[in-house]
Amino acid sequence: MTIPLKPRSEVRLAGNRHEMELPKRILVGNGVVKELGSFLDNLRCQAVHIVTGPHIIAKVKKPIEIILSTNGFTVHWSEIHIADMKTIQKIVESIDKNVDIMIGFGGGKTVDVAKLAAFNMNLPYLSIPTSASHDGISSPFASIKGSDRPYSIVANPPLGIIADLDIIGDAPIRLLASGCGDLIGKVTAVKDWEIERTDKGSYFGKYAASLARLSADIIIEEAKNIGEGKKDSVRDVIEALLSAGVAAGIAGSSRPCSGSEHLFAHALDIQGKNDGLHGEKVGLGTILMAKLQGINWEKIVKALEDIHAPTKGKDIGLEDKRIVKAILQAKKIRPDRHTILGRINLDEQSAFNLARSTNVI
Ligand SMILES: [Zn+2]
Repeated sequence: MTIPLKPRSEVRLAGNRHEMELPKRILVGNGVVKELGSFLDNLRCQAVHIVTGPHIIAKVKKPIEIILSTNGFTVHWSEIHIADMKTIQKIVESIDKNVDIMIGFGGGKTVDVAKLAAFNMNLPYLSIPTSASHDGISSPFASIKGSDRPYSIVANPPLGIIADLDIIGDAPIRLLASGCGDLIGKVTAVKDWEIERTDKGSYFGKYAASLARLSADIIIEEAKNIGEGKKDSVRDVIEALLSAGVAAGIAGSSRPCSGSEHLFAHALDIQGKNDGLHGEKVGLGTILMAKLQGINWEKIVKALEDIHAPTKGKDIGLEDKRIVKAILQAKKIRPDRHTILGRINLDEQSAFNLARSTNVI
């Protein structure tokens, strides 16, 4: 049986009507995963389907089964190896009809798979991130290989989020730095949203824009502490990621979180080679687009350096010509979005000059 996996459209605004979808419960703290049972009780869920990856399943399956089955929950597991449409299809086809919530327990890819599988089953889902690598842990948006679009697709936001700082603090530091790159990208994303309002007269939500921008500003302010692994830096990053996802929920659009810097990152993705993490590519895109937008790009470079995130293409194995190509291709990724790339026409020479002048190449 083939189930059509159809992500919904983001366009849900008509006239001055505006729909906001937000998580119902968010729990952040050390060791909070132990409260999963009472968390699920509060959401009135009894049968759960947990999507997780091979590393996480080896660590958590036993303790989670003890927490849940001793409290009368029914637990099903899916171990995933790749975040693509085929994997989602398999989960959708195999899910027990009594399951009343999906749980994405893992990195960004795992959460995205659970998010889309739940959406296609009309089920709520719970996000339990094991790293702070991007804002998909709290947003309604998912990036999946094999979908017909190279950018994020729209599903539902999580009904609940459990961010256990002990688990997230154990993740490789590179993932945290990547999450910071994704967050710093909100600077150019919000600016692009303003540009769209100015040039096209489209909807712009001040509150959602300010919230997304605040997430970026906190990371820029705290960059040195985060880079030095100071106390509370994991909490700062995870709370900023949660707030950014909520900002997208308030906007009913990914616009406050994803602008031309994300288009640049998506353009690199469709070149076929898999270099660098999502937030690392977004960080490079933010440097480039900030310069184009006329905002303080040097401050962005400094923050990324302090966090130990890449600031040059070669840091993540990207050749100069791929960077230039991605700058030129970025505008074509989403013709429905107007960003700085629609306002300023770049040719090969000016794209090269942009990358060279910011030391990205
Ligand atoms: Zn992102």
